[in-house]
Parts: sequence; C-alpha cells; structure tokens
Amino acid sequence: MAPVSISKETDYLVIGGGSGGLASARMASSKFGTKAMIVEGARLGGTCVNVGCVPKKITFNAAAIAETLHDAKPYGFSVQETAPFDWATFKQKRDAYVKRLNGIYERNLEKDQVEYVHGWARLLSRHEVEVTLDDGSKQVVRAKKILVAVGGNPTVPPQIPGAELGTNSDGFFDIATLPKKVALVGAGYIAVEFAGMFNALGVETHLFIRHDTFLRHFDPMVQETVTAEYERLGVHLHKQSSPSRVEKDDGSGRLRMHYKDKDGEAVLSDIDHLIWAIGRTPATKDIGLEAAGVELDDKGYIKVDKYQNTAVDNIFALGDVTGQVELTPVAIAAGRRLAHRLFGGPEFSALHLDYANIPSVVFAHPEVGSIGLTEPQAVEKYGRDQVKVYSTSFTAMYYAMMEADHKGPTKYKLVCVGPEEKVVGLHILGLGSGEMLQGFGVAVKMGATKKDFDNVVAIHPTSAEELVTLK
Ligand SMILES: Cc1cc2nc3c(=O)[nH]c(=O)nc-3n(C[C@H](O)[C@H](O)[C@H](O)COP(=O)(O)OP(=O)(O)OC[C@H]3O[C@@H](n4cnc5c(N)ncnc54)[C@H](O)[C@@H]3O)c2cc1C
Repeated sequence: MAPVSISKETDYLVIGGGSGGLASARMASSKFGTKAMIVEGARLGGTCVNVGCVPKKITFNAAAIAETLHDAKPYGFSVQETAPFDWATFKQKRDAYVKRLNGIYERNLEKDQVEYVHGWARLLSRHEVEVTLDDGSKQVVRAKKILVAVGGNPTVPPQIPGAELGTNSDGFFDIATLPKKVALVGAGYIAVEFAGMFNALGVETHLFIRHDTFLRHFDPMVQETVTAEYERLGVHLHKQSSPSRVEKDDGSGRLRMHYKDKDGEAVLSDIDHLIWAIGRTPATKDIGLEAAGVELDDKGYIKVDKYQNTAVDNIFALGDVTGQVELTPVAIAAGRRLAHRLFGGPEFSALHLDYANIPSVVFAHPEVGSIGLTEPQAVEKYGRDQVKVYSTSFTAMYYAMMEADHKGPTKYKLVCVGPEEKVVGLHILGLGSGEMLQGFGVAVKMGATKKDFDNVVAIHPTSAEELVTLK
C-alpha cells in the first residue's frame, strides 16, 4: 500500500457540521482549548438549519398566520385577503434567513477557533480521514480523536414505477410557488407537519398512510385526536393505502398516483408535488466506517454506548446517525457532554446524556407535545394496576367567539405510576402546546408526582392551568 501523505493534523476531528458536530467541536475548542477541526460536505448547520427545524418552523408560522386570519372574522375583524399567499416571496425570504444562519455558523467556528474544512470525509483508518475538497483534490487529516456526526438523509421511496417523480423532505424546501394540490406519503411527524402546513395555506392536501392513524409512536390520544382533526380541517386522508405507480402528465407536467386502499385500486390526478416522507436513513454508507472497525446495526446506524463510544476507542458518534432520539437538541446536548468528557478532565469523566424523558413537539394542527411514556408503554412496563391516568378534553377559550365547527380540540393526559403517582408520561395537544411543554418537561425530568402538579397554583385563564387541576 502506498504511504499516506498527511497534510493536516488535529486533536479532535468532527465529521459533519450539523447540530451535534458543531456543538461538540465548538465546546471542545472554546472551553477546553482543544485543537479541533470540522469537515462538512454540504452547508453548515446540517439538516436542522437547512432542510429541517428552522425552515419548517418558519413555514409553520406562515400557516399559523393563515389560520389566525381566518379566526379574525369571528372576533369582529373584517380582514380580506386580496391575493393568494405569496409563497414565492416567502420562500426567497426564508432562504435568505437560512443563508444568513450559514454565515453566522461559519463565523462562530472562526470565533471559537475551530478549523473548518469544506469537503466530504471518509475514514481511511482509525486515525486517518480523507477529505475530498470542492475542487476534487484530496487531503488526509490525522486525528487523535474522531467524532462521526453525519446525520441522515430522507429514506429513498419504495421501488414502484415512477417513484422518482416525487420529491422528499429536502425537496419540500425547494418548492418555488404555491401548489394547488399535493400528495404526501408517510405517517411520521414530518409528513404530518407538512400536510398541516399545506392545508392551512389553502393547498388541496392528500396524505397517504398505511394504517388508520398517523403519529403512531405517540400516545393513542394523540394519534386518534389529531388524525380526526386533520380530517375535520379538510386534509384528504387516504387510510390503509399504499402507492403502486406514479406517472407524469406530459402536457401539464402534473403527477398521477395509483394506489391501493381498502376499497381497491384508485388514482389521484393533477398532483403538483408528491412528497415521500417515509423516514430517514443514516448517512453511514461508503464513508469507511467498517474499514476503521466501527460497528453498525442492521439498519445502518452506528452502535454506541451511553457515552457515545463506538466499537473503536478513539472514534465516537452521536446525533441522528446513532438512531436514538432524532432531534436537534439531543444531538447538541450529546455533543457538548462528549466534549466535556473527552477534554474536560476527571471532573467530567462520567458525563453523558440521559436519553430518558426527552420532550418532543410536533408542529401539527393542533400542536402536540409529549414527554415520557405513553399509556400503553407505562402499562407494559409497570402493569395496569400500577398505572393511573388523568386526562381532560375541553375547548380552549380562544375558540369562545367561534362557531362550533371552527373549534379545535384540546386534550391533556398525565400518566402516573405507583402509590406516589409519579408522572411518567405527559401528553398534550392544542394551541400553544409546543411552548407549554418545555416547562412541564422540567417537572417530569425532576420526577414530579401528581401531588406536585396539584400543589402549583393555576395561571388563569390559560389552557395550561388544566394540567395542574386534573381530577
Ligand atoms: C423536515 C425536518 C424537520 C425537522 N424538525 C425538527 C424540529 O422541529 N425539532 C428538532 O429538534 N428536530 C427536527 N428535525 C431533526 C433534526 O434536524 C435532526 O435531529 C438534527 O439535525 C440531527 O443533527 P445531527 O448533527 O445528528 O445531523 P445533521 O444535522 O443531519 O448534520 C449532519 C451533517 O453531516 C454532513 N455530512 C454527512 N456525511 C458527511 C461526510 N461524509 N463528510 C462531511 N460531512 C458530512 C451533512 O451534510 C450534514 O450537514 C427535523 C428534521 C427534518 C428532516
């Protein structure tokens, strides 16, 4: 084998400039003075900043404004929209905001003295990484410690004829004009969020799901209520369906999707965009992990222990590529803790992220918040007789001025365990649930009991007060 020419050396090489990688490299360098380098092949900020949380939430805000405009009338306003939502201008501004963030992330690396290399990395051995730079040239970096934080990509659609005519969650952010009609395939939070946003912005929205409900990892209360609410809001839900063929109309360029459901074969025509949102796949293929001795599971995720150690003692992994809880703050928290543990001395030698009780929100219509165990999970873990559930369903005061058919649902559930009624699960849906969950997450993480909730004086008039007055 030809000798490898080393062109750079570093103490901490981070592959992937997304949420987890950036957080870890910056912490290592700025707090502990570690010589750190980050390699990113696409845009700094990773999935969250470029094709995830950030542009998604901005689009959700636009959808929420559309809903507020409709709600304004029953409150006595005479708001009249004189033109359709200007998606094209909105998109340009959203893209510009993301671009600004890319720049801010680059300056942050500079400020924290993390060397930034733009290129695609591949492990040659446990200490050597080859980086293919933009001009096609290659550079080899030798590193004492390596963090793999390469995230994932949208899962490729099923092998059906014409599947490639559709796009995925990355492509959602490229849509340049307001579509008339869209079809989404998937039942996870990304499909549900996109469908809710399109629908609120006045797009004819079709959502294809394999079962009768979506958000199937969430508590049954969430699955059933939000699925029913989407139907009430006018999303065309195709339950128990599976796409079989996609075609493009030569004249209009629009798509036709053939699918099967419980009633047999059917076809949906005139689709402007078909979006596959059927999960994400770790970006672990062909980056030399196996050659370096890093072990993957059968789905391609990197196997790690609770300290983010891989099977190789100087290589670590975190974030989406490990397939644990695929959320930005999880990747950041794991990245910062790892930097402390690796470079912060004995004081931090046992530091790691506790993956239990991580709050998560779905920006659906209505918003959903969830932390801890669902009711079925609690029953399975502790036994039915140990589990006590408190729940409520009511109409938020926001809807007081609206006709009955314009009132959205609000439902809360506390899942408690044992004689002390420790809260092991909290599930909420309704207006403001996203913001509401963070504070309640602190309580659940601290091990609060039902009595602790009851001991808090309510804030009136809010929806959240119902969570501290549950009977
Ligand atoms: C549509 C959508 C909406 C989302 N909404 C939310 C939300 O609201 N809240 C939330 O918490 N999370 C959300 N997420 C999830 C969140 O984006 C991820 O959990 C988070 O980005 C994971 O961070 P990471 O560091 O593990 O990976 P990423 O952020 O994916 O970063 C990995 C980086 O590695 C780079 N890379 C890959 N391979 C190589 C290589 N060989 N060499 C160099 N660079 C490489 C990639 O280009 C990428 O920039 C959303 C995701 C999607 C897709």
